[in-house]
Amino acid sequence: MQRTEQKTVDGVTDILCDICGTSVVPSALRAHQDNLDEFIDYGVLQASFGYGSAQDGTSVHVDLCEPCFMQLNEHVAVLKSAHEKSKGHP
Ligand SMILES: [Zn+2]
Repeated sequence: MQRTEQKTVDGVTDILCDICGTSVVPSALRAHQDNLDEFIDYGVLQASFGYGSAQDGTSVHVDLCEPCFMQLNEHVAVLKSAHEKSKGHP
């Protein structure tokens, strides 16, 4: 025999970009999905610094929509290019 009772469980209903505030979840999916706990198709900038680092104990987690992620990715490419030039790489 199974005994049942009504439970209230928190679930992820939306994920917002930490830069622009728009949802990272496509509207069609958001409309038909009650729980987004398993949704992983979006950009994340994440770091956790441990013992011995200058940022020891610091954690960073930034959720990003596709346009903001691509802007950040372009910035990474600029930084990489500048770094390579400073090291004498082409
Ligand atoms: Zn955004």
